[in-house]
Amino acid sequence: MIKQKLKEAEKHPYIGWFREQLKITNTKVQKWSDWNDEMMYEAYVSSRRVHVPIPIDSFSFLVALHEIGHISTGERLYSYLSEYNSEKWAMRRAKEVYNVVDSEYEEDAKLYVLKHLVMDLLDTELTLPKVKPYVKEWIGLNDQQIAKHILKLNKNKQLHCKINVEHWKSIANGKHINTITRNSKKGFRHNKTVQRSIQRAKRATSFICSYLTRSYNFFSRHL
Ligand SMILES: [Zn+2]
Repeated sequence: MIKQKLKEAEKHPYIGWFREQLKITNTKVQKWSDWNDEMMYEAYVSSRRVHVPIPIDSFSFLVALHEIGHISTGERLYSYLSEYNSEKWAMRRAKEVYNVVDSEYEEDAKLYVLKHLVMDLLDTELTLPKVKPYVKEWIGLNDQQIAKHILKLNKNKQLHCKINVEHWKSIANGKHINTITRNSKKGFRHNKTVQRSIQRAKRATSFICSYLTRSYNFFSRHL
């Protein structure tokens, strides 16, 4: 079945281009799947293997390249940075080498990175002042707007954990940013509440996916 699909994909240039990038980056495909926006694709960084969609158009080509992006750009401390680096890598390659540009993909990628940023802000010791300014700029949101976004997700019950509403409200209102967040009050690594919250988050892979076209499994992809 997949063999047949791979053969059909040869009608388009994307799969040839993708194979070229696999070779250049010394990456192997562990699994091909049909393109599906509900599917979870993965990158196994240490073994340089990827699970990717069969690229048949610019969007699926960029998604497949994104997984190579994880291999090429390596791991990062925060998932929002890891995703940002992979998205940028994929879009740059596609544009510079093959002249492929997909504005819909880029808009989707911004939401995807924002999703990871929210996760990192709620689950790790990351605070808004420490978020890379070039990422905020690319997403197109400042600290106040990110705080408002988090409050909105909370109101819509789209978050995986409880937040300190007052803290985020004060940022949303442009007040001085208190660097102590809910999770870092008692020390990030040793706080059991935080550990439980992260474990919960790891189980919940679709908590804010309703506004995304892609619902990646962002935890297992880096293992
Ligand atoms: Zn990714």
